[in-house]
Amino acid sequence: MKDAWIPYATRAVPRYTSYPTAADFTPETGVAAAMAWSAATRADEAISAYLHIPFCDKLCWYCGCATSVPNGYRRVAEYVGLLLKEVSLRGRAMGPHGGIGHLHFGGGSPNILNPNDFLELMDALQRHFGLRTGAEIAVELDPRTMKPGQVPTFARAGVNRVSLGVQTLAEDVQHAINRIQPRDMVVALIEDLRGAGIDAVNMDLMYGLPYQTTQHVVEAARFAAEMGAARVSVFGYAHVPWFAKHQRAIDENALAGLHERFTQARVAAMTLEGAGYVAIGLDHYARADDTLAIAAREGRLHRNFQGYTDDPCETLIGMGATAISQFREGFSQNLKDRKAWGEAVTAGHLPAERGIALTPDDRLRARALETLMCRLEVDAAEICAEMDVPDDRLDGALDAARELERVGLCHVSGTVVTVPEEARIMLRTVAQCFDARSPAAAPQRHAKAV
Ligand code: SF4
Repeated sequence: MKDAWIPYATRAVPRYTSYPTAADFTPETGVAAAMAWSAATRADEAISAYLHIPFCDKLCWYCGCATSVPNGYRRVAEYVGLLLKEVSLRGRAMGPHGGIGHLHFGGGSPNILNPNDFLELMDALQRHFGLRTGAEIAVELDPRTMKPGQVPTFARAGVNRVSLGVQTLAEDVQHAINRIQPRDMVVALIEDLRGAGIDAVNMDLMYGLPYQTTQHVVEAARFAAEMGAARVSVFGYAHVPWFAKHQRAIDENALAGLHERFTQARVAAMTLEGAGYVAIGLDHYARADDTLAIAAREGRLHRNFQGYTDDPCETLIGMGATAISQFREGFSQNLKDRKAWGEAVTAGHLPAERGIALTPDDRLRARALETLMCRLEVDAAEICAEMDVPDDRLDGALDAARELERVGLCHVSGTVVTVPEEARIMLRTVAQCFDARSPAAAPQRHAKAV
């Protein structure tokens, strides 16, 4: 990493899985907006759905997700009962639409659900929304806590993509993050999944974990390639103990410094690309025959709350506590407090708590940001033309990008901003030039750039 990048690398920047980001949501945009926007879908449009399962059998100390360890399955079962109510409420609130084209179960660990509960949720989604033929049905899995009979249940329910949390194979690192997961356990699960016909297996890896070395990162990336992972995401550990209290269990002295983190991210990229993977945006890698790599080649890549996707949908219905929905008109987030969320759905109300209605300026910047985050390049004038606004509307962003050009984080040629390969990891910093709401993010609202 160039020394001139250090001040930027230590700056807090959003992940830009949406624009505006969740930090800009306000309570003024609540239930009424969620109702109106849900009803405004188009009869021929495919929609997407996300179900949040906020439970895990064990807590990993690096985790930044909205999850907790339940005291027995009774709490999970209660949550499923409430989630079924929300599926029904959301289904009834929708205008005409063409059914679910992409369905994602995330968390937490969705495999904490008993097979019958999972099937009941799938059945409710089919009844209240309808699943399109060939829909992508994806589930995040924790290999350590799979239950007997779960893989065949997923296959029977039509699950056709899974994401395995692998993170690292190094034992001492696994101990330091409270996630003991032998390599053989992951291999056996992948064999089971493939045996059941679920071939699209994604893997999540991490760098910057306590005691993690560059060699550990290379080993994990090689493993992902050897196992033929369809997609691999490589996230940097974000140490934000003021936000995620359990991260206090992580020894800060065992964390890699900035240069080492940068090197770890680079070796992961080099290992995966050396094995034939295509680099996608900030932190994803896809096998050349995977739909994500094909979408990238064809300029159809998108970015949403699940990261990079080939899903072009404009309506994503998030269900469960904290889940975020995306509409053409804006974003709407469910109540974060699980009790309040449950009370709302029991009372028959959409459990929306906060959100934001998009302004024309938000749409323009969102388009520019998504283009840059997906392609590492954006032509500001082209975006202005596409959105039918004067071509100087993003001049401020170009000025900000020229500042970053001085240290080599991007190139600006006319109205085109390009992020060079060596600065891919700093992509969010360049994207922030297009962000009018959080141009210099408050230090504790987001994680650092590297
Ligand atoms: S399994 Fe995933 S969601 Fe659960 S605590 Fe670990 S990292 Fe967080």
